[in-house]
Formats: sequence, structure tokens, C-alpha cells
Amino acid sequence: MKQFTHAWLAFMAIKRLEDAILSPDDREYADGLIKWFKSNKDGVIRGAWYPDSLIKDNSNSHVLKFEPSDETAKEPKQLPETYLSCKYGESSPVRNKGFKLADEKDNLPDRCESLAQSVSDHLKVQESEEKGSPVSPTDNQVALWLFMLSHYVADAHVPLHCDGRQFSEGADIHGEMEGEWDKEIGKYYETDKSDKRNERFFYDPRGYPLRNPSKDQEYKSSYLKKVEDELSKRKFTESFGTGNKNVWDFMSAICQHSYLLSYCFLPEQCNPTNVTLENWKSLGLSFEELSVAVLADAIDSIARIWFRVWRRYAKWEKEQREERKRARK
Ligand SMILES: [Zn+2]
Repeated sequence: MKQFTHAWLAFMAIKRLEDAILSPDDREYADGLIKWFKSNKDGVIRGAWYPDSLIKDNSNSHVLKFEPSDETAKEPKQLPETYLSCKYGESSPVRNKGFKLADEKDNLPDRCESLAQSVSDHLKVQESEEKGSPVSPTDNQVALWLFMLSHYVADAHVPLHCDGRQFSEGADIHGEMEGEWDKEIGKYYETDKSDKRNERFFYDPRGYPLRNPSKDQEYKSSYLKKVEDELSKRKFTESFGTGNKNVWDFMSAICQHSYLLSYCFLPEQCNPTNVTLENWKSLGLSFEELSVAVLADAIDSIARIWFRVWRRYAKWEKEQREERKRARK
């Protein structure tokens, strides 16, 4: 995915949490994260782009690519049932076949698990150190880890990041697809470029990217509107899917379903020589259906992971506070 797509997904994940119906305790935790995000949101365009612009571990850490294998069919790890990639995955042409990693070195789930741990570790250190301590991470540093985490989570939802076929070759359908999403977001959401080092969205009164009102009519037929509609009818839960205990399991499940989804969009007979810039959007599932699945599911995943990472820290912080109170008595 490209720069504005990553930043936009991060904002939409926070909006999803703000709009979600949660228990009173979870609402308190979510509100803490939302408030914190909003005070640090100006760095999101740069921060969520760091994995591509600076770290550049694209070849193995932004991907987990699978290919069909002759082994007996195996069940993919489970995703929450509300996910569109779960629904499409059921009828994928490779659903009832074996599959294996195309490159053993790929490690996207590991990257996400370690960033998720880093976020809560940094928050804990920040909480326990005195103000001004040289080892205390700043809010900006923590925000950067959080934005980087959302980058890797979003990449896992891109079908071609999980498909061993080489669609960056030939007509570069991989680049085309990601370019289309960035263009669509750029069409409806403008950015403030006055600070060259820190480009940001213009914000609406709630602090989310401002949608250009002169394009309201056009927006109604955009797949971004369909993403919005899909999420507003989908109940928010914190589940990572049955049997998935941590971020690593959840990311593995996402990658396996992205692989299944990729074959729904580019069926088995497709390869980099017969897929062209003319035909790539309508060989299986339509590009619009694919985009709604990828973007809506990615928003939901970022929201779940951020929320659970934050809550883990917030519960710890609460315990610490109570312990200190008891010690003073
Ligand atoms: Zn990436």
C-alpha cells in the first residue's frame, strides 16, 4: 500500500473505535487511546510510511506469501466471521487445496507481534519513569511505533503481499492496485502541504480527515463509501478469531485469507504474462469488491490490534496505580 492509504486506514481505525459499542470498561480504555491518538495524529502520514520510506524491509517483513502445494488440503487459521476476506475465502478456487509458504524467510506476523509488544513496553517505561528521565520514551516515539504497526497490519490485507505469484512483474498489477487506492483517497481527502516535512490531512470537527464537500455527489458512488457502509453495519468485536491467541496468530490468519482472496481476484490461470492493464480489474472478483474487502477488513484489524495492545497497557497501569495506593496506606 502507499502513503496516504496507510495514514487514512489508521484514522479510520480510530474512528471505528470511537463509533463502536463497547462495555463501560472497554469504552474507557478505547477513549484513552483515541484521545492519545488525536494529540499525536499529525505525525501519522510520515510515521505510517516509515516502513517503506526508511526501514525498507519490504522483501520479507511486509509479506507472507503462500502458494498451492500438493500436500493434502489444510484448513486456514480462522478469521472473525464478519470479515469479507473470510466470506470470499470460503469460495476461493484454492480453498480446498494444500498451501505452503513460498519463501520461508517471510516474517510479517513476527514483525507485527514484536511491534505490538514494543508499543506496550514503551508505554510502561514511559509510565514508570520520572518526567524528563533520559530513558523515558516520548509520546512521539510511542506514536511512531503504533503507526508503524498499522502499516504492517494493513500490508497483510493486500492480497498480492500474500500470493507467491509475481504480479510486480509484467504490467506490475501490484503497483497499479495500490496506486488506485491511493488515488481514490487523494481524490476525496486533501492534504495540507504547507509543512513540507510533515504533510497532514485537513481535519473535520471530530479530528478525522476532512472529505472534500464539493465531491459529495461523486463520493456516493466511490468504493470508499461502500467501505464506510460495510463497517457501519458490521458489529465491532475485539476478537482475533477462534483459536488465535495473539497478534502473531491473528496476522497469520489474515495472511492466509489474503492468499485465498488473491485467487478470487486473479484466478488460477492468471500469470504476469496474461494479466494486463486492460483486463486486470475484471478477471474474477471485481476490483471494487476486492477493494471493499481489503480496506474494510484492514481498518477492522488495525482497530482490534491497537485496542488490545492499548488495553493491555492500560490495565497494567491501573494495577500499578492501585498498588501504589495500597502501599501508601
Ligand atoms: Zn509496506
